[in-house]
Amino acid sequence: MKNSLSAGGLVYSTDTGRMCPGCRQPVVACTCKQAQAVPSPGGPVRVSRESKGRGGKTVTVIKGLPLDVVALAQLGKQVKAACGSGGTVKDGVIEVQGDHCELVLQMLNKLGHAAKRAGG
Ligand SMILES: [Zn+2]
Repeated sequence: MKNSLSAGGLVYSTDTGRMCPGCRQPVVACTCKQAQAVPSPGGPVRVSRESKGRGGKTVTVIKGLPLDVVALAQLGKQVKAACGSGGTVKDGVIEVQGDHCELVLQMLNKLGHAAKRAGG
């Protein structure tokens, strides 16, 4: 986002110098760029429905989440609770029993993950 300095968001402080209108931090400590740089190093999050090799059972699979093991486990719990289903979290992949692709996509996007539907 490019904000023109004439747009009315210009803030000066005699103590800290120029302030960023975006995050209200001194420009030297601006966190806006950092926040934008965070999104998934591994590309977009993929949500797919799979039933292969599972005895015909359908599962919703979430891959590519840029989270550590702990955060992934927490998100897995949230997703399972929201879907009202059981599931597993392992090897960076969340699996939820049943087809909950739409619900999961909505949930992930609300949480700030750019999730996309993949496959069938
Ligand atoms: Zn900023």
